[in-house]
Amino acid sequence: MDIRHTATTCPYCGCGCGLTLETSQGRILRTSPTPHSPVNEGRLCIKGWNVHDFVQHADRLRKPLLRTGSQWQNLDWDNALDIAAARLAHIRDTYGPDSIGVLTSARCTNEENYLLQKFTRCALRTNNIDHCARL
Ligand code: SF4
Repeated sequence: MDIRHTATTCPYCGCGCGLTLETSQGRILRTSPTPHSPVNEGRLCIKGWNVHDFVQHADRLRKPLLRTGSQWQNLDWDNALDIAAARLAHIRDTYGPDSIGVLTSARCTNEENYLLQKFTRCALRTNNIDHCARL
């Protein structure tokens, strides 16, 4: 069996522990702590040890869904983003920028959180942005 080891960062919280994913044939077999990571020094919490479970879980959403009443419809990403952009613009222009609030996540990287606050302030034109670590 051809096994690959990929060093990466745990996405579960803002600590950013280093971990290594063991993969074979496109599947993650297990997760282990990166021994020399200065953040976690060879340790992981229980969430880090099991971080790969959600990636391959059968219930994981893999495509955008649009709800119409009680029905769910699969969409491609271009359509989903067009619809989300149009609806956000409609809400902002109809009810004002402060009618929208954005909550970001510790699962995002610093760069993703930075982009989201830029998007919120520049595109949505509101300062209503917060992070789950403050909730
Ligand atoms: S292993 Fe635990 S403490 Fe480390 S980043 Fe993941 S969730 Fe956070």
